[in-house]
Amino acid sequence: MIKKYHKILTLLFICMLVACVLMAPAAAYNHQSRKWYDSKSVLTFSSNLNSSFRSSVYNAANTWTSVSGSSFYFYNSSTDTCYTSVQLGAVAQPNYLAQEQAIMYNNSYKQLSLVTFSNTRNWTTNSTLAYSPFHYDIQTVALHELGHAAGMSHSNDENALMRASALPSVMRTLTVDDTAGIRALYPSYRHSSNGVLDNVEIYVNATIEPMTEEEMAEKATLIVKGSVKEILPAQWDTSDGSDPSIRTKDTYSTEGYMLYHDTVIEVDKIYKGKLSEESGKIIVRLPGGSTGSITMIDDNSAQYSKGEQVLLYLFEDTGTRSYSLGPEHYFAYPRQGQIFIDNESKIAVNGYGEKVDIKKLLSASASKN
Ligand SMILES: [Zn+2]
Repeated sequence: MIKKYHKILTLLFICMLVACVLMAPAAAYNHQSRKWYDSKSVLTFSSNLNSSFRSSVYNAANTWTSVSGSSFYFYNSSTDTCYTSVQLGAVAQPNYLAQEQAIMYNNSYKQLSLVTFSNTRNWTTNSTLAYSPFHYDIQTVALHELGHAAGMSHSNDENALMRASALPSVMRTLTVDDTAGIRALYPSYRHSSNGVLDNVEIYVNATIEPMTEEEMAEKATLIVKGSVKEILPAQWDTSDGSDPSIRTKDTYSTEGYMLYHDTVIEVDKIYKGKLSEESGKIIVRLPGGSTGSITMIDDNSAQYSKGEQVLLYLFEDTGTRSYSLGPEHYFAYPRQGQIFIDNESKIAVNGYGEKVDIKKLLSASASKN
């Protein structure tokens, strides 16, 4: 008895192993990077399609649109010029049930996709009727053709909806290979498959008020030398510090809110100005930073590391976006007013990575004091 069970279990194990191998093939889907700019295409119909035909095509379109983790979607618009048009008409070959033609400009993005259902076939919206000879299920064929319209090519997975070989009479859902394919073509930074936001990077570019070294020294409130004590976590400039991200299927927005991070500097020497606190510590604020899955990078902000020696030309916060956020703080003049001194070699470089002669720089400051 036990032996028999053992045999069955072994057989079961082998079957499961084979099943696992079969179920986890290498990615079989294909796309040739033929895709829609901004991950979307308007869906339109020619006038010779009746409403039940249209609703079957809509169902198929929604199946592609609702794939989680993909940013692609079909939508309605009467003004947008990049669209998928579905019609009933003559096809290129007698054995074609339907076909998709894509028009691309400069080999980059799809401009127009024309899906034609053959006008020589009997089409049905009734899945039962689809099993009777010479009737074809609209939704099944629409799902496949709209996959092409979205940008998918034929898959090497012979069970995929996007297979090159003939489809079953009725197949109204996507396989794992199909959904993996559309995700690969339109990777969404907005949603991952479990609904959690994937990594987002936001870049901030600015035009800086120009200043000579002398002007920088003259205008700075504080010029100090010190060391980086602590780099505090980034925070949003929302009233309660909450994440302002707004995500929909096609948009990601922070509504203009910014990330900031504060750096605590222990001051060793003051060349200009006075510290308001006796602690000998000041806070230098930098635009940008990382929180959770969002990183904001300000191209004009230098990066500080703990323990590093710095010479800073600091300015009061005269009402930036983060004016009322957190403790008293200063901003350094971008890059040029942030000088990093190597602890061992004593070589100083500014935020642009240019070598700086500190003595010369400070004497320029002194002459203006
Ligand atoms: Zn096809």
